[in-house]
Amino acid sequence: MSRDHGARRPLTPVAPGSSPARPAPDQALLNAGSTQTLVAGVDAAVRVAADAVRCARGPSTGPDPAHLERLVAAADLDAPLGGLDRALAELGPLYLDDAVWFHHPRYVAHLNCPVSVPAVAADVIASTVNSSMDTWDQSAGATMIERRLVRWTADRLGLGPRADGVFTSGGTASNLQALLLARDHTLTLCGETVGSPALHRLRVLTSADGHFSVVKAASLLGLGGDAVVSVPVDEHRRMDPEALSRALTRLRAEDLVPMAVVATAGTTDFGAIDPLDAIAGLCRAHGAWMHVDAAYGGGLLASPAYADRLRGTSAADSVTVDFHKTWFQPVASSVVVVRERRTLRHATYHADYLNPVDADPEEKPNQVDKSLQTTRRFDALKLWLTLRTTGADAIGAMFDTCIDLAAAAAAAYRSRPGVEVLLDPPLSTVVFRVRPVGVVDGALLDRANDGARDRLFASGEGAVAATRVDGRRWLKLTLLNPATTLADLEHVVGLLEQHADDVVAEASGAAREAS
Ligand SMILES: *Cc1c(COP(=O)(O)O)cnc(C)c1O
Repeated sequence: MSRDHGARRPLTPVAPGSSPARPAPDQALLNAGSTQTLVAGVDAAVRVAADAVRCARGPSTGPDPAHLERLVAAADLDAPLGGLDRALAELGPLYLDDAVWFHHPRYVAHLNCPVSVPAVAADVIASTVNSSMDTWDQSAGATMIERRLVRWTADRLGLGPRADGVFTSGGTASNLQALLLARDHTLTLCGETVGSPALHRLRVLTSADGHFSVVKAASLLGLGGDAVVSVPVDEHRRMDPEALSRALTRLRAEDLVPMAVVATAGTTDFGAIDPLDAIAGLCRAHGAWMHVDAAYGGGLLASPAYADRLRGTSAADSVTVDFHKTWFQPVASSVVVVRERRTLRHATYHADYLNPVDADPEEKPNQVDKSLQTTRRFDALKLWLTLRTTGADAIGAMFDTCIDLAAAAAAAYRSRPGVEVLLDPPLSTVVFRVRPVGVVDGALLDRANDGARDRLFASGEGAVAATRVDGRRWLKLTLLNPATTLADLEHVVGLLEQHADDVVAEASGAAREAS
């Protein structure tokens, strides 16, 4: 055993009882004799977290990374504090006091949500029981609950009786798995294998606004750097089906194979929903796998008002839904669902110790047969307790509130002379930029928006996201909190306008000094 801190340890162990109140070993691990310790520990932890939520005055304190790095580095990991209370107290300055709070009404930056309370409770159960989802003999009812939720989601997606799927750690993992199935399905149809040169003729088409995880997946799947073909978007930032049609025809002419089309139902920046019906028709005509990335738009499945916007998913071969975005679930909770259960076999590998080839999947279902992971957390329990407590309609109504708020915010921002809104929000993001009076230079406009965003975050008063459109900086509200009001968003944009004015004034002051 080589430990770099070994020299600091006493050569003879400290006699029992002489050190601080470190829990006895049998109390440090959960067992029938330590359940009181569990209850007290979880209670203490949740109180510390709840206090931090209650006391958060803004979405962030605008912490300095170097400062937090120093505080974290100062904790001696070889010298435990000897009690959960002390460790929880230490966590305040290291983490909780300066956390970024997604429940705060002026956190409107990324696709993060305030979390469902029953879901947090479910996470405590999931960690306490610690089921592992790989095999039936490590999970029992957990496997049944996950399977039922996959079935329920597949029904809402309209994927038909042979649909199946598996929970994953997120949209990135769900997209990767979907494209792995598409790759192996396509190669099988061509009578080829992964090792064959045909791999490099496979192409994946997605819109110019598709998620970067598609490119990452293509790379991980060995397809090569230029395997992802970017299809132009229309003026509403949806994939242009005519452009897709031309791209598919061109690939065929070049003897390349359109392995999959990834339609996005809710692009990360704009919330655009690609025309799913038209894309489905083209996929059929060209024999391409249709994947729908509904990581963001998947919340529409529960929406009382807008569910019809996702109708086209029924034609998909596979769909990604992130429950940890528009379903108000804590990270991580996502699912990949396929229309034909058989296609999941491309993710099936066997191990004698775990899921031997001769095991009967009807008798004892092993979810590892469908998953890219082995040991896997019971992340489906959160959604289950949310649906059984709050219900899908209420979840969907909360997302609807965010969608309506985005429309109202876009209208309110448009009415301000110093603000430009890029497009009518198809979902719950608003892409906009501030335009300080008299600024026409593009670079200065970018600087003003960048600076305004940074200063807003550093002030702790609000958090917005940023993106680029046609090479220029734009800002973005991502609305996933039904408690956010129009007044919050007016306040945020007012602050951004002030900060942008300051940036421009400072820049022109500096320019005067230099001349
Ligand atoms: C968020 C997002 C992803 C990635 O999901 P993760 O859960 O962050 O891995 C993929 N696609 C779209 C459209 C997304 O918005």
